[in-house]
Amino acid sequence: MATDSCDGCGRQVTVTGGIANLWTFGDGSEGTAMTLELADGTTHLLCYPCIEALPDEGEPTAADIDRLEQVDEETSQLRTQ
Ligand SMILES: [Zn+2]
Repeated sequence: MATDSCDGCGRQVTVTGGIANLWTFGDGSEGTAMTLELADGTTHLLCYPCIEALPDEGEPTAADIDRLEQVDEETSQLRTQ
């Protein structure tokens, strides 16, 4: 495993080789992430809250990735669920 930062929110994440299991997104704790390949061929490392925040419809775009930084405060609400 390696540590890196999410392309969306910039949080420290842990990259696993396979399908991630648990998301432990606590107070500054590390979480797991996935590399997402967009339709335009670029790849982005995203944590699960960011992946969840992507639009469900259609292919995510670089603009959606940029938007993740703005909606991070909103995605933080995931903790309260
Ligand atoms: Zn993120």
